[in-house]
Amino acid sequence: MPLNILLAAPDEYWEAYQAPLLREFKARDLDVNLQMKFAPEAVDYIVYAPTSALKDFSPFTQTKAVLNLWAGVEAVVGNTTLTQPLTRMVDHGLSQGMTEWVVGHTLRHHLGVDAHILGQDGQWRSAVPPLSQNRRVTILGLGTLGVAVGRALAALGFPVTGWSRSAKSAQGMTCLHGEDGLNKALSTADICILLLPNTPATKNTLNSETLAWMPRGAFILNPGRGSLIDDAALLAALDAGQIAHATLDVFRVEPLPVDHPYWAHPSVTVTPHIAAETRAETCAEVIAENVRRSEAGESLLHLVDRTLGY
Ligand code: NAP
Repeated sequence: MPLNILLAAPDEYWEAYQAPLLREFKARDLDVNLQMKFAPEAVDYIVYAPTSALKDFSPFTQTKAVLNLWAGVEAVVGNTTLTQPLTRMVDHGLSQGMTEWVVGHTLRHHLGVDAHILGQDGQWRSAVPPLSQNRRVTILGLGTLGVAVGRALAALGFPVTGWSRSAKSAQGMTCLHGEDGLNKALSTADICILLLPNTPATKNTLNSETLAWMPRGAFILNPGRGSLIDDAALLAALDAGQIAHATLDVFRVEPLPVDHPYWAHPSVTVTPHIAAETRAETCAEVIAENVRRSEAGESLLHLVDRTLGY
């Protein structure tokens, strides 16, 4: 009997996901019936996009796991109808995309690129940027993406400090954790990169108190989640010069409303949640591997901790 695998996602996902998923299932000798519609009680696995119309998991009585297509799970982790194991997306495409976005925007601020691109006014200004070794970077969130980004920045010579919930070690980085560690991590954050998940514990991690712990004139990059920043506190810190510039990819409300002050603020760059897109080509490997593991009686990769919310 083939495994019934439901792709629970907006219709347009079918064209992008069908072929890569079938290819990866086949590569693992898995006999599957992949569809976007099934009788719920017949479904073995759900490949889940949080933008799917599926919100009630209770009729899926035989489903062995829900495999989330996104790294962030805040839209589904609190769903009380979801009793099946839930995995989140960890794949090399996401890590690579995030690394490229962060390195690009870090170098923009580090090198002061805007002054040359926007300020072509015939003035020969010889402001030389510091070397990377003299620009300290702090990454809040030292998980899959935080570590990938930290490695790339450390390889470019930036002194990198990472902050996480639990104690960690990562080669080439100073690792801090817990509430005490945050003050220390922010006190050296010439550039601060937010890669925390959206959970009750991470809400407003950057607020008026913690923004004041950062060196004056620091830069913020937020490709994590909008909830990590108190927006009013950030706008006040930007206006006061405490923060020189914020490059934001994620927001409390997306798309960011046209009248939101971030759009018009001269020291804010908005990117439309494109830092690291899940790509069908690379994520299909992880999905198929998890189905193979489950069918072989092995533990699932990247299981979400429901209590912690990530
Ligand atoms: P992850 O592997 O789960 O890592 C999360 C990190 O945050 C871990 O280091 C964790 O600490 C830390 N953390 C969680 N709660 C904390 C707390 N209360 N205090 C301090 N540290 C805390 O997640 P990931 O794969 O790196 O992804 C991170 C986030 O990036 C996702 O949740 C998602 O929101 C965002 N994202 C955005 C995009 C985009 O396109 N903009 C794309 C993908 C992901 P421990 O190590 O101690 O557990």
